[in-house]
Amino acid sequence: IDFGFKQVPRDAKQGLVGQVFSSVANSYDVMNDLMSGGLHRLWKDRLVEALRPFPGQEHLDVAGGTGDVGFRVLRAIRAAEVEERMAAAASGRTSAGGRKGSAGQGAGQAAGLAVGEQAAAGPGPGSAAAAAAAAAAGGASAAGARGSAGAAAAAAGNGGGGLTPGRVVVCDINPDMLRAGQQKAKSSSDLAGDSGLSFVEGNAEALPFASGSFDSYTIAFGIRNVTDRPAALREALRVLKPGGRLLVLEFSHVTQPGLKELYDAYSFAVIPRIGGLVAGDAASYQYLVESIRKFPDQETFARMIEDAGFRAVTYENMTGGIVALHSGFKL
Ligand code: SAM
Repeated sequence: IDFGFKQVPRDAKQGLVGQVFSSVANSYDVMNDLMSGGLHRLWKDRLVEALRPFPGQEHLDVAGGTGDVGFRVLRAIRAAEVEERMAAAASGRTSAGGRKGSAGQGAGQAAGLAVGEQAAAGPGPGSAAAAAAAAAAGGASAAGARGSAGAAAAAAGNGGGGLTPGRVVVCDINPDMLRAGQQKAKSSSDLAGDSGLSFVEGNAEALPFASGSFDSYTIAFGIRNVTDRPAALREALRVLKPGGRLLVLEFSHVTQPGLKELYDAYSFAVIPRIGGLVAGDAASYQYLVESIRKFPDQETFARMIEDAGFRAVTYENMTGGIVALHSGFKL
């Protein structure tokens, strides 16, 4: 595990958000379970399922906090790699030969998923997504060629033999959250010795990574805290490889009739109280509740993702729209 902490300059909102998360860092995981009744685990599981982790995947989790999403993605990549190796051993070929090229996979996913997910998402960014999916289908073979070239290069770099293991970078602006994640990783039997896991202090609006570095980018319950969201989305596009995928998990606007009143009552009355009792910090949790209300609705956010340059943009609602998962591709 590598910890690349360094000082990141912040604006006024980032300073306030920083205080909030420094204050809750040590109780953050417990509070997540308490406040969501454990639902955040299901939402994150769905995020990882939608990502379809593959062998050799290079993944960036921004606003990664204590590593909850990053760890899940890394475990899923490792599981895919074990499966790949077993399949390779069974068929007598080298595992690198079976590696899915990221760009090819991304474009393929865009073509397949944009249509499938749109049906579930209802009247989302419909025609735009359908058109982009068609474009994705057209671009898939070219992207696939890039993917296999990448896989071949990886095999060559490996002496023509095995698979280059995937990696996950957990990036967050707050060193206290990262430190809490570092402690969790150190005491985890499977992650402690994994050199593919790193923690980097960085601002989503100006990421400290070279362009085209990652196959996929996730940000879970983080983008609503970012001051300049269009800049963060443009940065996501920049650091992704062609064919790479963006997934944004965020609290959204309740779409289910009857649920909204219940949800409002719960979040305004109960959450700050739990925050006061368990974390000793009601004000930080009051801030979290208010920031959820101010975040754009599903359609508006889908348009923001498209405006940043992503294609085949779709979303799906979870738990009646309390949370939405937005997806986009760099095509
Ligand atoms: N993704 C984690 C999860 O789902 O458990 C943590 C989510 S936590 C609610 C939000 C995180 O966003 C905090 O760790 C905070 O430090 C981080 N954050 C806020 N603004 C940020 C920015 N501009 N760049 C990077 N991270 C940021």
